[in-house]
Amino acid sequence: MYNFENCSVQFNVQMKEYTTFKTGGAAKVIIEPETPIAVAQVLRALKERGESYYVLGNGSNLLVADEGIDIPIIHIGKKLSEVRVDGESVICQAGALLSGAATAAYKSSLTGLEFAHGIPGSVGGGVCMNAGAYGGELKDVIDWIDYASPSGEVCRMDCDTANLSYRHSFFSDKDYVVTAACFKLKAGNIDEILGKMKLLGEKRRDKQPLEYPSAGSTFKRPAGGFAAALIEEAGLKGTCCGDAVVSEKHSGFIVNKGNATTGDILNLMETVKEKVYKKSGIMLEPEVKFWK
Ligand SMILES: Cc1cc2nc3c(=O)[nH]c(=O)nc-3n(C[C@H](O)[C@H](O)[C@H](O)COP(=O)(O)OP(=O)(O)OC[C@H]3O[C@@H](n4cnc5c(N)ncnc54)[C@H](O)[C@@H]3O)c2cc1C
Repeated sequence: MYNFENCSVQFNVQMKEYTTFKTGGAAKVIIEPETPIAVAQVLRALKERGESYYVLGNGSNLLVADEGIDIPIIHIGKKLSEVRVDGESVICQAGALLSGAATAAYKSSLTGLEFAHGIPGSVGGGVCMNAGAYGGELKDVIDWIDYASPSGEVCRMDCDTANLSYRHSFFSDKDYVVTAACFKLKAGNIDEILGKMKLLGEKRRDKQPLEYPSAGSTFKRPAGGFAAALIEEAGLKGTCCGDAVVSEKHSGFIVNKGNATTGDILNLMETVKEKVYKKSGIMLEPEVKFWK
């Protein structure tokens, strides 16, 4: 039933192994296409059968239900992860990691992707989320995006059409799957590029609890404020539910200090939302996606 051409298929897969939070139950099936056309063919076949699907990148912004999920997962991963440089463009398949794209840019003395080096997502997940850090966001550097549609085609759109905004894009609420993206960069100085990547890496290591599993910032930045500051002001640093803890180092992060479940993390998120709302009148919105 899930045998598709140019795809590998796994059944009963523990999602702990596929999420940076290291939580979640078993997925019934994970389909990993090896070509962009194979992605489109899977989408079309599932659509024809009336089946919905989830799209998985590097799992760095995801919470999966402890009970597991029956909806098929299409994984855009290592099998679609080529990166090549053409003049001032870095062209990446969607399963390539953002760190790999930034490294390829650096090696070709191209500047503009340094901010993305420390974001642990895939190119596809990064485009979908319009990933950003330290004043940069993918929207600033994307030239075009290739995507597979449920009608079985692979098409190209330019950056403006993809409607990228803060942690949101055309792909956030559609059944389309990013298969590649082209980053348009500028010629730069290789030492300066490396220096910037190193500096941003140090900043992350100083400020973020990278020693524990997490999904980065749990909540989106609310208008006119910062989630981490609001959480700290509500006295929530160190608050826990089981092994899910509001990080002492960076209160914008919930971390898994051992055997946290997705349920623990969701409960803690509710507590944080309630207490922040009581203290500030601001309702935080999750940045992390929840699959059930
Ligand atoms: C330690 C840490 C630090 C982080 N720092 C940052 C940061 O500085 N800035 C930032 O923006 N984020 C940050 N994140 C969050 C995360 O890395 C980003 O949101 C990233 O863009 C998610 O990419 P992913 O491939 O892991 O996507 P996933 O977590 O696999 O999926 C996230 C969403 O993207 C969709 N998606 C994935 N691949 C595709 C595709 N090919 N086509 C269409 N939709 C797709 C999924 O369906 C889902 O809705 C951090 C996370 C961690 C763990």
